[in-house]
Amino acid sequence: MSKNDNTVTVIGAGAAGLLAAWRASALGARVTVLEKNPKPAIKILISGGGKCNITNASDFRTMLKQFATAEERFLRYSFHEFTNVQLLELLRNEGVETYARENGKVFPVSHDAEEVVNALMKMVQRNGVTVRLQTPVKEIFANPDGSYNVQTNRDIVRSRRVIVATGGASYQKTGTTGDGYRWLRSLGHSIVQPRPALAPIMLNPVPPAAWQGTPVRDGALLAVAEDTVTGAAETAAQWNGDLLITHFGLSGPAALEVSHHAFVAMEKGKRVTMVIDFFPERTADQMEEWLRTKIEEHPSRSLLTLTEQTVPQRLAEFILVTAGIPFITRLNQITRSQRRTLAMVLKRCPLGTVTGIPLDRGEVTAGGVSLSEIDPTTMGSKVRPGLFVCGELLDVAGPVGGYNLQAAFSTGYVAGTSAGTMISQAD
Ligand SMILES: Cc1cc2nc3c(=O)[nH]c(=O)nc-3n(C[C@H](O)[C@H](O)[C@H](O)COP(=O)(O)OP(=O)(O)OC[C@H]3O[C@@H](n4cnc5c(N)ncnc54)[C@H](O)[C@@H]3O)c2cc1C
Repeated sequence: MSKNDNTVTVIGAGAAGLLAAWRASALGARVTVLEKNPKPAIKILISGGGKCNITNASDFRTMLKQFATAEERFLRYSFHEFTNVQLLELLRNEGVETYARENGKVFPVSHDAEEVVNALMKMVQRNGVTVRLQTPVKEIFANPDGSYNVQTNRDIVRSRRVIVATGGASYQKTGTTGDGYRWLRSLGHSIVQPRPALAPIMLNPVPPAAWQGTPVRDGALLAVAEDTVTGAAETAAQWNGDLLITHFGLSGPAALEVSHHAFVAMEKGKRVTMVIDFFPERTADQMEEWLRTKIEEHPSRSLLTLTEQTVPQRLAEFILVTAGIPFITRLNQITRSQRRTLAMVLKRCPLGTVTGIPLDRGEVTAGGVSLSEIDPTTMGSKVRPGLFVCGELLDVAGPVGGYNLQAAFSTGYVAGTSAGTMISQAD
C-alpha cells in the first residue's frame, strides 16, 4: 500500500468516532466510518435521558479535576486542544442552541439529543465522509507494510490509519459490546479490567415495596466497606447529592457516583453496605442538639410525626425501628440515650448490603485501553503506529455532568487531527 494513501478508517460512529472523522476529513483525509448499528450515535440519543447533557460549562481546570489523577494528566492535552467552548461553537454553527444549568450541565435548548446527532452527521457528510451503517467490524489485522486490514461482515477495508472508537462495554444493546478491547489486546495493547461506573446498586435486603420510587434529596450516600475477617470498616466512597430508592436497590446521582468504588471494594472481598447520611452538613453532635431544640419546642408532638417531617415520609418508621424507639413515643418521653441513637441513625442509616453493580447498566465503563500505551498528544498507539484510540474505549471514566461526552469529543478531535495531519504530511 502506498505511503501516500490518504484514507482513514474510523470504527464506531459515536461521539468520539464522529468528531475524529469530521476532523480528519477537514484536514484532507478520505474518511470512512464503519458502524454496526443501523443508526449513528445511539448513546448520544439516550444520554441525559434523551435530553443530552453534552458537556459542562465549567472551566478547563475544573473539568479536568473531575477525573482521577492519571486520567486528568492524560486528558489535559485533548481538553485543551478541543474545549467545551469549541464544541458548543461547532454545534451552534449547525443550528444547535444550548444552555447551561446552575450546576454547569449543558443541554441543547430543544432538549432533544437527536438534534446533536443530526448536527454531527451534517458536519461529517459535508466533508465527504462515508458513513457505513450496519457494518459491524469483526477484526483488525496489522499488515507487514504498516497498513491495517479492517474486516467487516462484508469486506476488508484497508488503510494506513485506523481510529478505534468503539466505546465501552455497558448498555450492550446500544452496540457497545467491548469489541475494541479484544482487537486491541490481540494487537499487543494492555486492557485495564472493564468495570461498571455510574451504575445502579443492587441491595440485600431489597427495599420494601412501599419505598420504591422514593427520592432522598440533599443527603450523602456512603459505601462502607468492611473486612469480613477483621471486621474493620472504612468509607470506600461518599457522594453528596440526590438518591432514588428503586425496586432492586439504589439509583440516582449519588448511587451512580459511588458505584465504581463500591464495586472495587467488593472485588477486594469486602462486604459493602450502603449508608445514608440525611444531614451531611451537620455533625452527630449538631444533629442531637437540633433534636433537643425540637423536643423543647414541641414536647407533646409524636416522634413519628417529627421523623416524617425530617426524612422522606416513607422511611420514617424504618428510621425509628433502626434506632429502637417505639413509634408512639412523644418527644418529651425520649431519653437522652434515645436522642443520641436517633441522631446517629439520621447520620448513618444503613440501607442494605450491596449484592451487585451490573456492568451493563453503567452509564460508562471504567477500565479499557491502558493510558500508558497511548500518546495523549496524538491518541496514537505507542504499540502500533497508525492506530489511534479515543473515547470511552480508553481507561477513562468521569462523573455525571457532561464530562464523559466532552472526553469522547476531545479525544476524538485529537485522534482525527493526528490521523489527518499524518496524511497531509505524507502528501
Ligand atoms: C444511559 C446513558 C446516559 C448517558 N448520559 C450522558 C450524559 O448525559 N452526558 C455525558 O457526558 N455522558 C453520558 N453518558 C456517557 C456517554 O454517552 C459516553 O461516555 C459516550 O457516548 C462515549 O462515546 P464514544 O464515542 O467513546 O462511544 P459510543 O458513543 O458508545 O460509540 C461507540 C460506537 O461504536 C460502535 N461499535 C462498537 N463495536 C463496533 C463494531 N464491532 N463495529 C462497528 N461499530 C462498533 C457502537 O455501535 C457505537 O455506535 C451516558 C451513557 C449512558 C449509557
